[in-house]
Amino acid sequence: MGERIIIIGAGQAGLQIAESLRAEQFEGEILLLGEEGVAPYQRPPLSKAWLAGETATDKLTLRGPDFFAAKGIDLRLGAHVAQVDLGARQVTLAEGETLEWTGLAFATGASARLPKLKGADLPGVCVLRGLKDAREISARLGMAKRVVVVGGGFIGLEVAAAARKKGVEAVVLEAQDRLMARAVTPRISEYFADMHRAKGVELHFGAQVAGLEGSDAVSAVTLADGGVFKADLVVFGIGASANDATAAAAGVACDRGIIVDACARTSVRNVVAAGDCTVFRREDGVMLRLESVQNAVEQGKAAAAALMGRSKPFVATPWFWSDQHDVKLQMAGLSGGMDRQIARSQGEHAFSLFNYCGETLVSVESVNRPGDHLLARRLLDAGLSPAPDQIADATVELKSLLR
Ligand code: ADP
Repeated sequence: MGERIIIIGAGQAGLQIAESLRAEQFEGEILLLGEEGVAPYQRPPLSKAWLAGETATDKLTLRGPDFFAAKGIDLRLGAHVAQVDLGARQVTLAEGETLEWTGLAFATGASARLPKLKGADLPGVCVLRGLKDAREISARLGMAKRVVVVGGGFIGLEVAAAARKKGVEAVVLEAQDRLMARAVTPRISEYFADMHRAKGVELHFGAQVAGLEGSDAVSAVTLADGGVFKADLVVFGIGASANDATAAAAGVACDRGIIVDACARTSVRNVVAAGDCTVFRREDGVMLRLESVQNAVEQGKAAAAALMGRSKPFVATPWFWSDQHDVKLQMAGLSGGMDRQIARSQGEHAFSLFNYCGETLVSVESVNRPGDHLLARRLLDAGLSPAPDQIADATVELKSLLR
């Protein structure tokens, strides 16, 4: 057999690895194995514009069929990998077929968490991860009077916003005392809480979901404190766990995700991983799991280079976004450890928060300020920390601080 790279997972990261391998002049076979029955597509819009009915499904497709043929990428859909044998360099599919590889990439993504609660298997209890989930939620939203969303993170809030756009009542049950606590600072949480309430979303904090009620389909969510919320649709948006079971079973080092270095290499030679399935060990020892398109793309490029024997460390600042109602939230950098926040405002509904840890700029959160976000990424990428008084001064152009 000549050279053959097998990529397990045909999402954003898997596709990127395949594309980058060709860009890196890899001339062997590329097998891109996708579990879902559809060609690689964008996931972020599923809970945003797609669910709100503002984007068509075909607009989500990342590459058309011609692309795969032209690049010589063998895309196999509906292929479930049952086992990986690192010693024999083989992948076994669920149907029993065995495929050999000279290089292997895991791009297996993450799965939405769903607690093992009584009633969690009732029809109308959903999570949102893939197109299939989104289709089901969309169909049920079309008939629902009231949706209860468990989890006030990005996905939960995006679903609540889409529901309101469709005239459906929306309730969000969040375990913590503020929204999106994992990813944003308290001022952003507050702004979004006010905004969601203004759009008619009912928010409940400190909520401990105890169970789901219903006979043919879900009819209510019950809380540990005795609260009962009627619902014709319940969507859990309580985070995702990395799909690392196949890699772990094969003997690849994992710790709530496949452990990779800055070049997307795993603990095993010629085996790389990229995207939501990975955890990245940062230089300071901190383990980071980033679920973002940017991470999938950048790690995918690094993974392809690593398979070609080159080191292409991924160093760019992490960035994320969320669309809720008509508000665009964009985040650059990570806010952990920040102790000072400087606002740069253009009115109540357009502002950016620059977060410092001591003198160092660590992150920037922008609400309806895409220009600030782009410049913030450039500042952070360049390791620049402008003086806070310059940030606060609206007459100082951010661009001028790049020099
Ligand atoms: P996702 O990508 O699913 O939106 P996030 O981590 O952004 O994931 O948000 C998940 C949210 O769900 C967090 O705000 C977290 O506090 C909340 N959460 C986690 N578990 C529960 C639970 N059992 N009940 C309610 N909220 C929860």
